[in-house]
Amino acid sequence: MFSTRKAAVEVERHSRLKYPHRLNFYDKPPVEDITIEEFETCAIDRLRVLAEIESGFARNRPYDELKTIAIAQCEKYIPLNATSATTVNRDAQRRKDHIGHFVLRLAFCRSEELRRRFVKAEMTLFRVRYDTDGNDERKEFLNSRDFNWIQVNEKEKVGLAEELAAASPGLDINTQDFYKVRWTRVPDLIERRKVLLKAGWAYVPAREQSSIVFQEFQVHLQNQLEKTAKSLPRLDEDNRIVPILNNLSQGFLAGVPSEWGAPEGSGEEIRADMIDDLARKHFPMCMRNLHENLKRDHHLKHFGRLQYGLFIKALGLSIDEAVLFWRRSFSGMTDDQFNKGYKYNIRHSYGLEGKRANYPAKSCQQILMTDQPGSNDSHGCPYRHFSVDNLQTALLSTYSSQGLTTADLPDILNSVKGGHYHVACTRVFEITHANQGVKKMEGVGGGESVTHPNQYAQRSRELEKAMVEKVKKEVGADGDGDVVMVG
Ligand code: SF4
Repeated sequence: MFSTRKAAVEVERHSRLKYPHRLNFYDKPPVEDITIEEFETCAIDRLRVLAEIESGFARNRPYDELKTIAIAQCEKYIPLNATSATTVNRDAQRRKDHIGHFVLRLAFCRSEELRRRFVKAEMTLFRVRYDTDGNDERKEFLNSRDFNWIQVNEKEKVGLAEELAAASPGLDINTQDFYKVRWTRVPDLIERRKVLLKAGWAYVPAREQSSIVFQEFQVHLQNQLEKTAKSLPRLDEDNRIVPILNNLSQGFLAGVPSEWGAPEGSGEEIRADMIDDLARKHFPMCMRNLHENLKRDHHLKHFGRLQYGLFIKALGLSIDEAVLFWRRSFSGMTDDQFNKGYKYNIRHSYGLEGKRANYPAKSCQQILMTDQPGSNDSHGCPYRHFSVDNLQTALLSTYSSQGLTTADLPDILNSVKGGHYHVACTRVFEITHANQGVKKMEGVGGGESVTHPNQYAQRSRELEKAMVEKVKKEVGADGDGDVVMVG
């Protein structure tokens, strides 16, 4: 009686939802109207999660760590609640998940390399969700598809008992169900010698059943991506969508940053005379390099001024302080030369001249991909644009006072060689902030990678503030909040 009522509730619970399951094999593309804005945001939010998973691979994170990071990122950008979570709009969450996946298929189907990386990251995301699904809901999902496995009957199981036990040491054969699939469908289990192979069949114990599901997901997605790639040329005429797709497919290069603009009214303004100290303590390599060049040459070329100027603007430098900073830095020229040649551009970047656009600071992706520096330029990302020898020298001279040693170089250079420049930068952040409690693999917080120079600098400043607060608490503070010197 109870189970009938429970089953009826289950049916009702699912029948009201357009997407009955939290897990999805993405068999059919969305067919409803989608705005361009939705098209882009669903994809970007999903890409933030996938890019962080990809960075995790570059850092050889074990699965459990990847899972923790992916769960945190998913909660932030693409939450996906259980069907039993009746107080949230599960269909809206699942729709976003569905749209995001299909837009990214369009962006990542276009080369063998992109397809391979996309499938790997999507597979991991699916696995994380599979592992965090409730047992009952996961079972319902598995029952909703034909995985083409054959449950081994009791007679066959008894007949193979010895061989099954030998293939799965420690497993209680009597209480475990087994499934038969063609051996080609479980290569990872075969590689790990986890299954009995007989007459072309792999006998998979129920506890390893997930391997069949993951393999199926992977093969299905690979095939679908190849099909999408073949039909993609038709999209090339759509000048609204193609630029978005081009931009999205760069997401694995340096993650997906949030936009950093000038912090209006945040009380975080900085002054021109603070910059030297801030650079020494908090700037990432790209901005340290620009700062040192500016100090040495009393000048920066156009793209250098642009990259650095927008960065310090987003850090909280007001227009008046910016003019003061650049005027002092360009000490080799007259006021007249400065006013005529540079002041207008500084005001322009603050949205006070020309088309009055308030330009945001450049992200790692933009710095890595656009306006490639020539040999006499100082803009760009040192991890990408310096030779290996120059990078090693620059890293040691820039950060040795913050704890970076030659022993750290192989790890950093490995990431650089693999083309994971922002991962190298993240490792440097961890090393140079170790004395503020940042551990290896922690990134700029919660395992996140560096995706924007301003994110790097802000996190570094936050860590310093937290450290000062901690010291204040430990030694005791007077009524004005000043640290009381003891001893
Ligand atoms: Fe700058 Fe980003 Fe390169 Fe780091 S990874 S040096 S923040 S551009």
